[in-house]
Amino acid sequence: MTRKAKSEAPASAIAESAHRLRYFEERKQAITETIRQLVEVESPSDNKPAVDRLGSLLAGRFEALGGHAKFHRTPNFGDHLQVDFAGKSSAKPVLLLGHLDTVYPMGTLSTMPCRISGQKLYGPGCFDMKSGIALMLYAIEALRVWHGDELARPVTVLLVSDEEIGSDSSRHITENLASKSQAVLVLEPSYGAKGAVKTARKGVGEYILKVTGKAAHSGLDFEKGESAIVELAKQIIAISKFVDLKRGITLNVGSVRGGTRSNVIPAEASAVIDVRVARIKDAAAIDRRLRSLKPFNRKCKLQISGGVNRPPMERTPKVAALYQQARAIAEQMHWKLEEAAVGGGSDGNFTASLGIPTLDGLGGVGDGAHASHESILISELPRRTALLAGLIETV
Ligand SMILES: [Zn+2]
Repeated sequence: MTRKAKSEAPASAIAESAHRLRYFEERKQAITETIRQLVEVESPSDNKPAVDRLGSLLAGRFEALGGHAKFHRTPNFGDHLQVDFAGKSSAKPVLLLGHLDTVYPMGTLSTMPCRISGQKLYGPGCFDMKSGIALMLYAIEALRVWHGDELARPVTVLLVSDEEIGSDSSRHITENLASKSQAVLVLEPSYGAKGAVKTARKGVGEYILKVTGKAAHSGLDFEKGESAIVELAKQIIAISKFVDLKRGITLNVGSVRGGTRSNVIPAEASAVIDVRVARIKDAAAIDRRLRSLKPFNRKCKLQISGGVNRPPMERTPKVAALYQQARAIAEQMHWKLEEAAVGGGSDGNFTASLGIPTLDGLGGVGDGAHASHESILISELPRRTALLAGLIETV
């Protein structure tokens, strides 16, 4: 590359991105106000009417931007909202992925009201992930303004209603739309104080181990009993040896139950196990190891159920390439966008494991997801929106 070419192209790109950043800086209050509106429509996963209220509000907002909204009806959870935007080009759409639901029970707003303090907006679900939804709205609006009331390329928005409870009812919709898309941009919260995007997420599984022993009176017939609790305790020690931190494999026995009273040899005991793996092949290996557990006491029976419900999002070359594109856009704004690998799963795990380039954690920068101090940084909103708009155009 000649010296001239090297200095010219970036200069115009940098000027353009400065212009875009200014555009979003001017809309910072409007974006913040939208986030407040979304937070003030509470939407716990288990409350269909509440989630549907938020879905309708957003369908209206996206339709006002020229999108075609449709709902995937679900009897027990909120309806999943899909919005399709046509584009000038015949490129495959970019899928903007997110969720409507939050982990906060109805009425949380009364003890945890949405409020602004300094550069922070607080409120249930503001970080995970109502600010991400607001970024979608403003990025799409801007792209239409910049391209003469039309998007340069097709965009699909999918907001599911059950992400916080495992995405069982939406998974097939997410996978179907992702498989038709060029790339998937997930507007889940970013990572850490610097707002890193997420290029790897662990796969998540849940298993239940049940032990059946034999009850007996602990005083009269001690030797006739087979303690399910003793057996479970030994199994828990065995399971804890499957942990391999270097490979990113963790197993956590998160709860145990068993027995009835102190003078009865317990006939039943069970444990719930959370499993996290960084690589898909480790999911299969751990599954095999759990299913082949043998009782230490031959007179006890083991029963294992469950499985890995979110495959890991691995940092494949396609994921890395998408991150590089995001980094280049950020760099034009003099911003060093970092990446992170995290232990929690999202719907991005499904799309990445299908082999569709996926970048996660593009949403707000904040703190306290799922906690009483959940908040986002208002000052970060303009450049996050500019990054999203840039990615929609370039991927
Ligand atoms: Zn989330």
